[in-house]
Amino acid sequence: MFAVYSATQRISHLIYFGLFALQHRGQESAGIATSDGETVTVFKDLGLVAQVFDEPALAGLDGHLGIGHARYSTMGSNNWDNAQPAHRQVGNTSVALGHNGNLTNTAELAEALGVSGATTDSDLMAEGIARAVNDERSDARGLEMAVMEVAPTWKGAFSLVIMDQGRIVGLRDPNGFRPLCLGSLSDGGWVLSSETAALDLVGAKFVREVAAGEMIVIDANGINSYYPFERVDPGLCVFEFVYFARPDSQMYGRSIHAARTEMGRILSEEHPAPADVIVPVPESGIPAAQGFAAASGIPYADGLVKNRYVGRTFIEPTQMLRDQGIQLKLNPIPETLTGKRVVLVDDSIVRGSTTRQLVTMVRDAGAAEVHVRVSSPPYQWPCFYGMDTSDRSTLIAAQMGVDEIRDHIGADSLGYLSLDGLLSATGVSDAGFCTACLSGDYPTEVPESADKFQLERS
Ligand code: SF4
Repeated sequence: MFAVYSATQRISHLIYFGLFALQHRGQESAGIATSDGETVTVFKDLGLVAQVFDEPALAGLDGHLGIGHARYSTMGSNNWDNAQPAHRQVGNTSVALGHNGNLTNTAELAEALGVSGATTDSDLMAEGIARAVNDERSDARGLEMAVMEVAPTWKGAFSLVIMDQGRIVGLRDPNGFRPLCLGSLSDGGWVLSSETAALDLVGAKFVREVAAGEMIVIDANGINSYYPFERVDPGLCVFEFVYFARPDSQMYGRSIHAARTEMGRILSEEHPAPADVIVPVPESGIPAAQGFAAASGIPYADGLVKNRYVGRTFIEPTQMLRDQGIQLKLNPIPETLTGKRVVLVDDSIVRGSTTRQLVTMVRDAGAAEVHVRVSSPPYQWPCFYGMDTSDRSTLIAAQMGVDEIRDHIGADSLGYLSLDGLLSATGVSDAGFCTACLSGDYPTEVPESADKFQLERS
């Protein structure tokens, strides 16, 4: 998610560049909403940011404030209707919303609102705000009052950028599961972004993270901050450090790349391996492999080449696409692997199918031994907060112990980073993390099961 409020310039290109830098967070659809102070214009479609937008599309997005979104679906199908920003027109007020996360009380909200046709939690949030704006429409502070009124009814994970014709609202849920940061432009404008790395691309300076439970309102008068929720302990998704975030981003003031390198260093101490070469699974396994190699003294080498133009396999929404994706995505370098005892370093094993194919690929390329090392603990519990793993039966570590997984993926040995090791590697273990998928310790109430398509089915 990305949002810009500028004092002096059209901002559609800035949002485009921001979304481009955040493409890794969602690759199914992309959209931008802008306003010139009078009219909100929305353009969205299925595909990557660069596929969805061209010069004519950006030229049609007029105005000095706007929001953008790149979607990875954790609720609802991947179709045009569910692409974001979600939009509602209420009387004279236009509301657009971009959401990162997943609500855990979607069914209750849908029932309370009595809506028909909403297919995602994000849609329900847009609807709830629109109705509350309608109640407040004579009030110039309508949008922020509406958000303050309805946001406490939402449970679960939501980092949001919301706009009407004249202002932008940024909001993080009380736990702060998903990130959001604030940057400043040299013209006096402001930027909201899921990650700090996207600020660099538009020449914005990092100001600070939006705090867990904080709402920021940006309009012609500048910035105001509110706290509409009861305070709870913060719980940023620890997988932002492991997998989601770009390595050149910072969270809790800590470099993601430095944290991942440290994960590899600790992993090499916890699970050393007799080997000739350390090979990363590109790209998210690279920093941990570098840390593993530096700490173990075993040479690091590229043994798998990634086609940069293929999306992350894990983010693809169906198993069939994931299975095809690995062949498209990676190719081995036999010169690195033939006759070698290889340590293959990856950031996580979720379903196991990708790792199994990788081990086969490395063996077929001539490796004498393949020792898999994973820079996070076994992923055993479903995520209800914005990672598409709500079905526990698909999680290999929920079904098998480490030795069984090792046999299943065909590795000579398998070692996972401990949870203590992971938290220590972040360098900010006291800052507050969600570790539910690794520990089963959920920071909020969660449903017994979650159906990604529950609204569509009903
Ligand atoms: S359950 Fe796991 S993936 Fe989901 S928010 Fe918590 S740490 Fe992140």
